[in-house]
Amino acid sequence: MAHRPATATHCPAWCAGGHQCTAWLGGGTHASTPEAWDTSTGRVVATRHRGGRRDWLELRISIKLPRDRGEESVVALMRMLVVGAVHSVIRILTAERR
Ligand SMILES: [Zn+2]
Repeated sequence: MAHRPATATHCPAWCAGGHQCTAWLGGGTHASTPEAWDTSTGRVVATRHRGGRRDWLELRISIKLPRDRGEESVVALMRMLVVGAVHSVIRILTAERR
């Protein structure tokens, strides 16, 4: 296993460093401390990343699924949630660029 070099990588101010940051590895990324929001419908965890020439936001959304419905209904709900999430992201990014 590779060892982290003694000289620090130039981390951006938001990078959590430590085990969160793998920028010192070839192809690794800077990563913020994940922020989590617990809601009545589940949990959202957001982490900012920078690797190579890209910056991105990782969003992990955990949503409670009903257990009192048939499988077909749950699958349909999951598809609507994915489509709704993607449309929300596109709408926000499109509005932000105007
Ligand atoms: Zn870093």
